[in-house]
Amino acid sequence: MEENGFVLVTGGAGFIGSHTCLDLLEKGYGIIVIDSFLNSYPKSLERVKQILRSKNLTFKDKIFIYQGSLKNKDFILRVFNESEKNGCRIDSVIHFAGLKSVKDSIKNPLNYYEENVLSTINLLYVMNLFACKIIVFSSSATIFKPFENKLINEECQIESINPYASTKIFIERILNDLHISDKKNWKIMNLRYFNPIGAHSSGALGESPKGLSHNLFPLIMECAIKKNFTLKIFGKNWPTKDGTCIRDYIHVMDLAEGHIKALEFLRKNEPTIINLNLGTGIGTSVVDLIKVFENTNKENLSFLFTDRRKGDLPFLVADNKYAKDLLNWTPLRSLEQMCKDGWNWKLKNPNGY
Ligand code: UDP
Repeated sequence: MEENGFVLVTGGAGFIGSHTCLDLLEKGYGIIVIDSFLNSYPKSLERVKQILRSKNLTFKDKIFIYQGSLKNKDFILRVFNESEKNGCRIDSVIHFAGLKSVKDSIKNPLNYYEENVLSTINLLYVMNLFACKIIVFSSSATIFKPFENKLINEECQIESINPYASTKIFIERILNDLHISDKKNWKIMNLRYFNPIGAHSSGALGESPKGLSHNLFPLIMECAIKKNFTLKIFGKNWPTKDGTCIRDYIHVMDLAEGHIKALEFLRKNEPTIINLNLGTGIGTSVVDLIKVFENTNKENLSFLFTDRRKGDLPFLVADNKYAKDLLNWTPLRSLEQMCKDGWNWKLKNPNGY
């Protein structure tokens, strides 16, 4: 595997990043992780090692961790230089690092443009310098303007509805321009995630936001663990079967596997830029998710209906045919599995890492 060089994973200690790091190491890849730990914990990577040890898998000389910010170009240069000197040349990047709260992005747009867009420019600048031209980028399904209740394919119209979405759209455009500037070398995949939930089946790895998350699944778990917490459902008169919004929830391990398939595809194929939607293609309403969680885990949740949340959309579900065909990838884990694994993680780590 190492004739391929190491994979740099930015934001590797975060929710999707840590699950992907585990999968990369299990598959024998060598990785360099950069994380600022602004919204993540070093402990997630300790847990990755713990899971590998429990499976008798070795990770010696396969993982190197750097704490630092991509806002600092000199820091990125140092990581690339040191890795090369140590015989761990970086030949590809999975770029997760970035801020991800829609709410915060509306309050602090400059922060979002700096942390997401500027940091990515710095990263790409250094990659260019080191002739490292393979990148899998964490984009998001929030960039789409859905058309009625139709599945969202890669051709669907793109429209920004908040600064967070804008940062993802700008980065995709920058990557597109970069590819045009050097079509013979750049290999780029923009992965538009739908709603990743669940956790690793061991319960040792999961989502651990700093502060209270605003997303539905972490709040469902919060509600299940703290008996005095009432979940607010935003709107009950949406044009959907039960009046609540529909999303495409995908197990974080299926998403992690999608990243590795994306990386392998780029490594094997000619230079290209590809946009890909990663979801299950299955729509689940807020009420559906609550019911499946309750039934799977034998828990009762307290919830009430409130007003719609500003900027919400009734229906966001992937058409994942292109991803399935191109990557030979299929999301395997059911909604029940997502609820079971998420709850197992929460019970074992009620306060996160
Ligand atoms: N939602 C809700 N109550 C909450 C948080 C979310 O009813 O406390 C709903 C929200 O309106 C949306 C769905 O759950 O329809 C998923 O929301 P989330 O923020 O998790 O993901 P996104 O809206 O970004 O897809």
